[in-house]
Amino acid sequence: MKNQTGENGLPSPRHRIDAHVHIMTHRRVRGGIKWVRPVAPDYHNLSLDVTTEELLAHLEEEGIEAFFNFFYPLKPGESEDVNRWHRDFADSCPKAVPFASLHAGDENKGSVISQSLDRQGFAGFKFHPYIQGFSVLDDRLARVFDELQDRQCPVVIHTGFAEFYQQPSMVEDTRELLRRYPRLHLVVSHMLYPDMPLEDWPALLDEYPDLYLDTTNTLVYCQPGSRDSGHMQQLIASYSSRLVFGTDFPIGTLYPTGKIHRIAALLCPDQNSLDDLMWRTACRIIGKDLFADSSE
Ligand SMILES: [Zn+2]
Repeated sequence: MKNQTGENGLPSPRHRIDAHVHIMTHRRVRGGIKWVRPVAPDYHNLSLDVTTEELLAHLEEEGIEAFFNFFYPLKPGESEDVNRWHRDFADSCPKAVPFASLHAGDENKGSVISQSLDRQGFAGFKFHPYIQGFSVLDDRLARVFDELQDRQCPVVIHTGFAEFYQQPSMVEDTRELLRRYPRLHLVVSHMLYPDMPLEDWPALLDEYPDLYLDTTNTLVYCQPGSRDSGHMQQLIASYSSRLVFGTDFPIGTLYPTGKIHRIAALLCPDQNSLDDLMWRTACRIIGKDLFADSSE
């Protein structure tokens, strides 16, 4: 395949999907930006009063053609409201691929799942165990994961950065989740970084063919010259069809998010792995060829 060269002489992907974005209510976006600023000083340059339109304009400027959007409830009983807001937002924004959520403490988890997937057209589910305050092994979620596995529904779970969250590592819980639900279409956000060595991923990716990794917030720590850059480059070289790119915008690491696009291009060894990372794997996860007219 011919290489595409963009600005700065770096290879450029043929499409761009940001597989990790949080466009939510103003209150939650504002809270998120405030929360991330101490560790991501770039976000002092994004106003706390940023509007949804301005958030979308930023993604547009970075060439994003589609994005996975995540919005999850903080307490039991909020899921239907959160998912309704999210569905309305996605109806107004064709580039958004919305992921529903629920809380382990919800009483009506079965009906939230059928409502989200059968009637509201969500692409999958997203959970954030640290912020939502439950474990992925919580007994109350057993039937949820059973059903999501049976439906082959993509399930995105926050993992990693235990020290930052001042919470126990999720390494053993994630491994056990895979043992219990080996056919779950699981997307491990942040790759358990830095709580599990990157070198441990190949064996798990080989063992679980429906497992995917979301590189969000990891690439910045694995830039060329860093301790982990070699391991990340090897992983991308061998497993790009299982890796997606994301920025966590507007609650991420670097802003403007184009800085992270640039790191991705530096870490990918060739055009094919860059295209996998930047859009092709994301299409695979949701089972949709979003760019059918230009596919090979
Ligand atoms: Zn996130």
